[in-house]
Amino acid sequence: METPNIDVDLFKSIVSSVKQQFPIQEFIPLHAPVFAGNERNYVLDAIDSTYVSSVGTYVNRFESMMVEITGAKYAIATVNGTSSLHVALLLSGLQPEDEVLSQALTFVATANAISYIGSKIVFIDVDRDTLGMSPSALRIFLETSAEKKPDGFTYNKLTGRRIGACVPMHTFGLPCRIDEIVTICEEWNIILIEDAAESLGSYYRGKHTGVFGRMGVFSFNGNKTVTCGGGGALVTNDENLAKRAKHLTTQAKIPHKWEFVHDEIGYNYRMPNLNAALACAQLEQLNHFVDNKRELNKAYRNAFDNLDVMLVNEMENARSNYWLNALVFNDLEERNAFLDYSNRNGVMTRPVWELLPRLNMFKNCQSGSLVNSIWLADRVVNIPSGFRV
Ligand SMILES: *Cc1c(COP(=O)(O)O)cnc(C)c1O
Repeated sequence: METPNIDVDLFKSIVSSVKQQFPIQEFIPLHAPVFAGNERNYVLDAIDSTYVSSVGTYVNRFESMMVEITGAKYAIATVNGTSSLHVALLLSGLQPEDEVLSQALTFVATANAISYIGSKIVFIDVDRDTLGMSPSALRIFLETSAEKKPDGFTYNKLTGRRIGACVPMHTFGLPCRIDEIVTICEEWNIILIEDAAESLGSYYRGKHTGVFGRMGVFSFNGNKTVTCGGGGALVTNDENLAKRAKHLTTQAKIPHKWEFVHDEIGYNYRMPNLNAALACAQLEQLNHFVDNKRELNKAYRNAFDNLDVMLVNEMENARSNYWLNALVFNDLEERNAFLDYSNRNGVMTRPVWELLPRLNMFKNCQSGSLVNSIWLADRVVNIPSGFRV
């Protein structure tokens, strides 16, 4: 249906540019994994070794590789990104009635993990250019709605609850203004946990995302840049936290040759060796994957340069893995018309997640101003961003 505000020629140009990048595919998915390296070898090797579960050489190798890639001192392998977030929050000393600041525009897992530990979430706005947590919105919220008490902690003036942690997220692999968030969290004595689930291979000022805060978490789900079916990692520079994370993710068993003694309630969160084998083979190709995705972003940027639509770019000092490319349309009507047009014409596209404060489980949570989140939710569309082979 043609409406006066809708420019079908624009949609045609975008869709044909996407098809040009993925010429042999009939329907172009948003993101599909590629297993062209040592995946088969390593997985078969893990099977042959009979160590397919949570003990095995690939799990340890995976952790070493994550240390090398991120520059963190320690990495702990987990079953998925959500469990990594859960453990990071458990290790932050949060009490059930404490509050955690996060962003309204993120995948639901961020807020779910905060809910697992019984904490209340407060939604902070994002920046329009990075799509990640806005340091200015964070500062405004703290200055107007929080106070630091003599015990050294920060409390929410409205609810009286302690604000124990802050969980920003690097949306679609684009690094947010993490250095400013670090400064604010230090000022207010709030523990910083980075949800870097989408940003493996993304850097800010030459430092890998996920290592700016006390802890950072990564996901290796099937749709992420590097996948092992399901998997996660928690990184930290703190030896004590790393030991605690390993302990909690392995059922809190006291290491011993034959005795089964557990000293607290633990979790069965350790990544199985079978998945780790796949992860190691994929991580070997990380640089190649990121180069491939950055090339695609460049091609899109050239193609969309003269069109009346914006392609989200990394900001200065940031190096994005461009996990998912994002377009920003002029308004909701145009966004919806494009979603309809592209999906009918063989190009998979999707809107950004429904804002979390609009979901039933989180509708009663406190929020700062969410002008940018609402603005973006009406306009952002992800376009195919997989590997070109
Ligand atoms: C993928 C993702 C997660 C969760 O990772 P899983 O491995 O699927 O549990 C968490 N946060 C964000 C922002 C994600 O994109």
